[in-house]
Amino acid sequence: METRDSLNELERLIYARNVLLPGVGEAGQLRLMRSRVLLIGLGGLGSPVLYYLAAAGVGEIGIADGDSIEPSNLQRQILHGRPDIGLRKVDSAARTVARLNPDVRLRPCGEITPSNVLQTIAQYDFIIEATDNYRSKFLINDACAVGGKPFSHAGATGMRAQTMTFVPGAGPCFRCVFEDEPEAGSYDTSDRVGILGSVAGAMGAIQATEALKYLLGIGNLLVGRLLTWDARTMAFREVQIPVNERCSACGQRSTGAGKG
Ligand SMILES: [Zn+2]
Repeated sequence: METRDSLNELERLIYARNVLLPGVGEAGQLRLMRSRVLLIGLGGLGSPVLYYLAAAGVGEIGIADGDSIEPSNLQRQILHGRPDIGLRKVDSAARTVARLNPDVRLRPCGEITPSNVLQTIAQYDFIIEATDNYRSKFLINDACAVGGKPFSHAGATGMRAQTMTFVPGAGPCFRCVFEDEPEAGSYDTSDRVGILGSVAGAMGAIQATEALKYLLGIGNLLVGRLLTWDARTMAFREVQIPVNERCSACGQRSTGAGKG
């Protein structure tokens, strides 16, 4: 990978407001440009994530989603537009990013499965779980716990949403909180109860922010803190989550175990 010690003239203009931020500077921007983030899910959460990571200048973004675009996606999945109906989401996303920031290396990686998840996440510095189902959420969580990869979780249904960040060795994982995949039909899904696009979008913006903070090494992450949001009342709550010592994904793991 190329190593550079300064921004070119155009990059100085484009990223001027990143560089101004305390703790960022040109060194921080160059760090973002050397960073690799894997985004799993190109829907209501993943759409703003990809916009903001690409605009911020993250060097390489892996995108994973096996779906094609349906009309019912367009009310919230703002990466895709009406001419994209029927296209694969990864292809539509690639078009959007090429227009926004052609310097980003976008790597479509197909669907994430139990057989490819570990080798896929190993290639990235930070993982964003922006999926819409528990099976994928637990799969990604458990792989990140084993592989020692930090990730951001989010979920949104109706007008409620939640998000937290997992950093191996530094706090609880998704399974510490939710333990096991709930039975199908025992929880609300957006295809049954709806979802307001902007609610998913706001969570996606938070996920992108967490990824950028992690890569830059600034601020405090949502580690051990589950942020919940009821958009109907505009109430944000933060629930402190302890590490579950018996967690089958991350339990009894000493700090830093599994890294590398
Ligand atoms: Zn855990």
